[in-house]
Amino acid sequence: MERSFKTEVESLRLGDGQTFHGEGILAVTKALLQSGVSYVGGYQGAPVSHLIDVLVDAKPLLDELGVHLETSTSEAAAAAMLGASINYPLRGAATWKATVGTNVASDALSNLASAGVKGGTLIVIGEDYGEGASIIQERSHAFAMKSQMWLLDPRPNLPTIVNMVERGFELSEISNTPVMLELRIRACHVYGRFATKANRRPQFSRHDVIEKPDFDFSRICLPPATYAQEKHKIEHRMPAAIKFVRDHKLNEIFAGDANDVGIVMQGGLYNTVVRVLHQLGLADAFGNSRIPLYVLNVTYPLVPDEVATFCAGKKAVLMVEEGQPDYLEQALNVILRRADLQTKVHGKDVLPMAGEYTSETVLRGLVKFLDLVAPRGVDVARAKARVEVVDGHKAKAMSLLGAPVPPRPPSFCTGCPERPIFSALKIVEREMGPTHISADIGCHTFSTLAPFNLGNTVLGYGMGLASSVGLAPNFKKRVISIMGDGGFWHNGLTNGVASANFNKDDGVLVIMKNGYSSATGWQWLPSSLQSRAGGPSGMTIEKALRGVGVRWMKKVYNYNVGNVTRVLKDAMTTAERGLKVIIAEGECMLAKQRRVRAEDAKKIQAGQRVAKPKFGVDDQVCTGDHSCIRLSGCPSLTVKDNPDKLRRDPVATVIETCVGCGNCGEVSHAAILCPSFYKTELVYNPSAIERLVDRVRRRVIAWLATPEAAPTPSVPGEARFAAAAE
Ligand code: SF4
Ligand code: SF4
Repeated sequence: MERSFKTEVESLRLGDGQTFHGEGILAVTKALLQSGVSYVGGYQGAPVSHLIDVLVDAKPLLDELGVHLETSTSEAAAAAMLGASINYPLRGAATWKATVGTNVASDALSNLASAGVKGGTLIVIGEDYGEGASIIQERSHAFAMKSQMWLLDPRPNLPTIVNMVERGFELSEISNTPVMLELRIRACHVYGRFATKANRRPQFSRHDVIEKPDFDFSRICLPPATYAQEKHKIEHRMPAAIKFVRDHKLNEIFAGDANDVGIVMQGGLYNTVVRVLHQLGLADAFGNSRIPLYVLNVTYPLVPDEVATFCAGKKAVLMVEEGQPDYLEQALNVILRRADLQTKVHGKDVLPMAGEYTSETVLRGLVKFLDLVAPRGVDVARAKARVEVVDGHKAKAMSLLGAPVPPRPPSFCTGCPERPIFSALKIVEREMGPTHISADIGCHTFSTLAPFNLGNTVLGYGMGLASSVGLAPNFKKRVISIMGDGGFWHNGLTNGVASANFNKDDGVLVIMKNGYSSATGWQWLPSSLQSRAGGPSGMTIEKALRGVGVRWMKKVYNYNVGNVTRVLKDAMTTAERGLKVIIAEGECMLAKQRRVRAEDAKKIQAGQRVAKPKFGVDDQVCTGDHSCIRLSGCPSLTVKDNPDKLRRDPVATVIETCVGCGNCGEVSHAAILCPSFYKTELVYNPSAIERLVDRVRRRVIAWLATPEAAPTPSVPGEARFAAAAE
C-alpha cells in the first residue's frame, strides 16, 4: 500500500482506560485487537479499505501479539480463510465491501455457515449503499437470512461499534455461527472516541503451535452431515443467538413520553433519525427523544419477545429500514400477528422502498407517519411546517441559481494513464466504426461516462472478458474487453483469460496495468513492484498469461497514443485467431504524484535541479473546436475566452493542475487535430548555463515583442525557467 498509516497504528497500541479518537473503521480495528483475534484478513474496498491498510502498517504490533494477517486476493479467499475457526477455537475476522464482496465470498460463506464455528468469527462488511456508493444497490440482509448468519448493524457511535465487535465474537462462539458486522459509509467515517482496553493476546496465536489436527465429520459440508447442520442451525444456533442478544441487551430501547407510538430502526440509521427528531423539536441535541425508540443493533435475528414488549400498548410504530425488500417490516408484522398485538406497522408506506435514507427523506417520511397516527401530545402541525421550511429553502436556492446545476460526471484523475487508452479507442472507433466493449470494475469504469462513453456492460470485478464471450460470435467486428490489473488477479485470470483460451474464443482484451489496486486506495497487487514483504512478489501478468497459453500478447506504453491506436487496430484485424491481449502500462498518476512530489520536494530543498513538464495551448493557433477536450477529457484541459476579438469560440487552455503527462498533445497528434499544443518545463534550481540561456531568450523575446508583450515571470521570486518549447 502506497499510503502510510503511522499515526493510526499508534492508536492501536492504546491500553486500559486510555482514549481513542478517530474514525469508526479504525475503532473496529482496535476492537479486533482488544477481542483477542488470532487471524485477520480481507479484500480492500470502500468503505472498509482502511481496516486492512492500517493492519498492514501495524505488522510489528501484530507480530508481538502473534496475530496472523492475510491480505487476500479476493473476498472468496478471505471468506475461506475463516474456515480456521470451524475446528479450532481461533477467533478470526475478515473484511470486504458489500454486497459485491459478499457475492464473491458467498460460496465459502455458505459452507462456513453450514459447518458452524468453534472460534468466534466476525465479518466486517462495508455496506456500500446510497448516494456515496459505487456499486449495485442491494442489501447484505439477504445473505444473513439465507445462510443463517447473524447481522449486526450498530448505531454509528464508537463505544457502540466497539461493544458490538467484542460482543460479536461472543455471540459467534455461543451460537457456533459466523457474525456479520455491517457498517454503512457514514458509520465507517464517523468520528468519535471511546475508552480503550489493552490488546489481548489471542488464546491461540501463531506463537502457539497446534500439534494435532482436529477431525470431526459433523463439520464437513457433505451429506448426511449437511442435513444435521441445517437442523443444528434452527434447533440450537438460532435460539442461542436470540437468547444472547436479549440477555446482553444488544438492541437498545430509549423511552419517551409520547409512548402511544414508537420508532423501530436499523441501528445504522439511528443518527439520522435522531437528527430529524431534533429538527422537529421531538428530541434534544443529545438524542433524548420524546418518541420511544427501539434501536436494532442486531437486525438478524430479531428477538420476537423484545419486539412485542416494545410494541405492546402502542397504536402504531414506524419501521425505518433502508433499502429493499422490506425484510424487517415484514418480520415485524409476522411477530406482532403471532403475538396477537394490534399495533399498526408503518414503514414503506411513508418512506421510499428504494434509495438512501438521507435526513431529508427520513424527515418527510416521519412527518407523514406523525400526520397519520397523531401521537398523543405531539404538535403535528409544527412538524409539517418544518417540511414547508425545507421546501422553501430548496425553492429559494433554485431561484438563486436560475437553472438546475448541470450534472458533472466523475472522471479519471488528471494525467491518469488509463485515459490515453480510451482516447486511442475513440480514434479507432472513429476510423473502424464501433464495436461492443465489455467494461469492468476499477477506475477505468469512468470510460463509460462522458466524454468517452466507451463500455456497453459491467458485470463484476475482473469479469470484463468473461462477460463478452457470449456476444463475440454474433458481432461483425471483434469485441473488446477491458480489465484492470486488480481485476485480473481477483477473477480475470481464471474466469476470463483461462476460460477464453479453453474455449478458443476470439476477442481483444486490454489489461490496464497501473501497478496498484488504485480505485480502493493503492494497495499492492501480486504484480506490483512491491509487496508486503518488500520487493516484487515474482508474479507478473505476462508470466501468468503465458502460463495459461496466451500467444498474442503486446505491451504498450499508454501515453504513446499513436502506438496504442496502431496496436489496437492490429489486434482487431489480425488473421490470427484466439485471444489477443494488450497490456497497457502506465503507473497510476495519483500514486506516482504522491511518490514523486515528496521526492522532488526533498531534492528542491537540497538545491538539486528538478524539471517538471507542463503542457499548454497556444491560444493564437487554437481554432476552438475542442476536439482535444472531447478525446482527452482531462480536467486540467478546459476553455477560456478567445483572445482574438474577431472570434467568439472559446479556446482550449491548460490549467495549473496539469501534471504534464502529455496525453492531450499526443491525442492531438494521433488524431491529427491541430498543432496548438506545446510542452515546457518548469526547472527548479536551474544550472548556470540554463540561467544564461534564459536571460538571452528573454532579451531576444523582449526585443522581438512590443514592450507591453515582453514576458515577465508570472510567479515573482519562484525559480522557474522555460527550458524548452516545442
Ligand atoms: S487513481 Fe490512478 S488509476 Fe485511478 S483514475 Fe486516478 S490516476 Fe487513474
Ligand atoms: S498534459 Fe494534458 S492531458 Fe496531461 S495532465 Fe496536462 S492537460 Fe491533462
